[in-house]
Amino acid sequence: PLLGQTISENLRRAVERWGDREALVVRSQDYRVTYDELWEEVERAAKGLMAMGVEAGERVGIWSPNRYEWVITQFATARIGAILVNINPAYKAAELKYALNQSEVSLLLMSEGFRTTDYREIISRVRDKCETLEEVLVLEDDWGAMLRAAADIGDNALQDREESLQFDEPINIQYTSGTTGFPKGATLSHHNILNNGYFVGEELGYTEEDRICIPVPFYHCFGMVMGNLAAVSHGSCMVVPGPAFDPTSVLETIEAEKCTSLYGVPTMFIAELDDPRFEEFDLSSLRTGIMAGSSCPVEVMKQVQSKMHMPEVTICYGMTETSPVSTQTKRDDPLDKRVSTVGQIHPHVEVKIVNPETGAVVPRGKSGELCTRGYSVMLGYWNNEEGTREALDEAGWMHTGDLATMDAEGYVNIVGRIKDMIIRGGENIYPREIEEFLYTHPDVAEVQVIGVPSEKYGEEVMAWIKPKPARELDDAQMREFCKGEIATYKIPAFWKFVDEFPMTVTGKIQKFKMREESIKELGLEDVAT
Ligand code: ATP
Ligand code: MG
Repeated sequence: PLLGQTISENLRRAVERWGDREALVVRSQDYRVTYDELWEEVERAAKGLMAMGVEAGERVGIWSPNRYEWVITQFATARIGAILVNINPAYKAAELKYALNQSEVSLLLMSEGFRTTDYREIISRVRDKCETLEEVLVLEDDWGAMLRAAADIGDNALQDREESLQFDEPINIQYTSGTTGFPKGATLSHHNILNNGYFVGEELGYTEEDRICIPVPFYHCFGMVMGNLAAVSHGSCMVVPGPAFDPTSVLETIEAEKCTSLYGVPTMFIAELDDPRFEEFDLSSLRTGIMAGSSCPVEVMKQVQSKMHMPEVTICYGMTETSPVSTQTKRDDPLDKRVSTVGQIHPHVEVKIVNPETGAVVPRGKSGELCTRGYSVMLGYWNNEEGTREALDEAGWMHTGDLATMDAEGYVNIVGRIKDMIIRGGENIYPREIEEFLYTHPDVAEVQVIGVPSEKYGEEVMAWIKPKPARELDDAQMREFCKGEIATYKIPAFWKFVDEFPMTVTGKIQKFKMREESIKELGLEDVAT
């Protein structure tokens, strides 16, 4: 059944059951606490925030790479009912200002910086352009003072606050990646994210014996929900290598901490497998994990299962607006389901595949828009009623904008995004199909296919190609390569050879920017509607 608890109630239950077990390890900070100790630290931080005057429903931003204070803040804000606003550590001035203003943050907890970015310098530039922002606290400097201020708040004050909270109230704002336009702030409740974390953990068979290696960022639901909330709701331990991803430190962490589970996007697993010191580490404690974000090449999956000792690794599909997971492969699914599908529907979640124009459910095996409904669907977009109305219909279905198919056994396959589908002369063309074919060219490193406006056909196919280092490619060669292999109407009419693609700060390719650029270059402004 679904958990009818606030995050604070759930953490209290974990502490009662598993108090003396290890809860959180952050190796880069030499930080190591049991559930009992975590509870005390969270309590001090919660009282510290109350001493600063933070009210229930107030927005508290956190802009920091993975540190133990991030986790403490996540649970401390949940205990006092403040809404945590996750800010991507890779954000710079313009994006930070947008997020702080859009969600009306009054208190910002931030680190000194990330990689080469100096957060203090950035905040000094944007601070007076953020009207609601009252206070900024630097974790490295001010954390201790905040905890000391907790002494001013009595136990009763915190308890009264906790008892006033409801599990269906907002507790978190997470921004979408901005792959298809401006990032939107998904407003999520205790109920949304606690249960999603809980069921992700159920699917992986987590118990208090599990130790989860989390090299993925906390600001993203992958870290804070599928990692932290999955751990706490099962008494497992969160094991964090450090602030930024580094394959060697992940391998070291797994061996030293005897991790049983590992998270990552496919490129992280590839980097770990390719690490020159890979063979030196004993990874035999691993059994499971999650690979999410994009589809995984077969060879990589095979190696993760055998060389990394993760026969039970699972694949997930989801989005920020759905807390995030909607489908997941089973621990014992066969290889083909792990590489060609995103698994089956999660417990207590509904999924249907519909014709985007008529809304009618399509026959099994046919593609359509994936819609989902249930406890995991966000409350709405923060301060964006129009966006919310477009995404959520009256019956509570979230329209994901993703094209998918479902097979006879209920496994879902993601075909692409509706916004990226090309309609040429009435013919539907899925970019992924052409991309997969062009990838088979020996000199192609990366390829992205888009639609550009055409007077004659409505849209034409265009391919952007990144050749392998020191390789030369041109239109004629590529056209020749396609001839007789793919249908003529699918052969790109336009080709562009590039060194890189426009990307979000998290590395997702922004096709809308590719389209804008191509329209300008091809002089199609007048054709574009
Ligand atoms: P925006 O909504 O701002 O345009 P975004 O949709 O990329 O950005 P996220 O919520 O981070 O923001 O990503 C969710 C999307 O990622 C899904 O809608 C889907 O298109 C894609 N996705 C998620 N999981 C998978 C997967 N396993 N395989 C393929 N695509 C996936
Ligand atoms: Mg999206």
